[in-house]
Amino acid sequence: MAEPEDEALNLIQGKPEGILQSELWKELGVDSRKCSRIVKKLEDSGLIERIDYKKDGVKTYLLRIKRRQVNPKYLLSGDELIPCIGCDLECIVEQCHPLMDWMYQLAIVQHERD
Ligand code: SF4
Repeated sequence: MAEPEDEALNLIQGKPEGILQSELWKELGVDSRKCSRIVKKLEDSGLIERIDYKKDGVKTYLLRIKRRQVNPKYLLSGDELIPCIGCDLECIVEQCHPLMDWMYQLAIVQHERD
């Protein structure tokens, strides 16, 4: 069985707009105190951000995945941009030929540099 932190992280990741802490503990099936401990661990690890939020006058938090800045060099293989940018294909990463081709190209470029 998954650790509660992993389960919480999956739930938060599944909601790009964020999830309220007052909803998270219900979805996890834990009490609010345990949920607070889980959220604190995720926040301390730098994986999520916790934003003050009021719902129906009651204070809670909006939890969102923390966005990290991506070094643009990781989006390029030579001068070819990763195909995910602007992609509108139905995404099944493990079966994606454009991505595999791009990664293959990346391996060649890195091999030539070494
Ligand atoms: S993995 Fe493939 S299908 Fe998914 S976003 Fe990237 S290019 Fe598109």
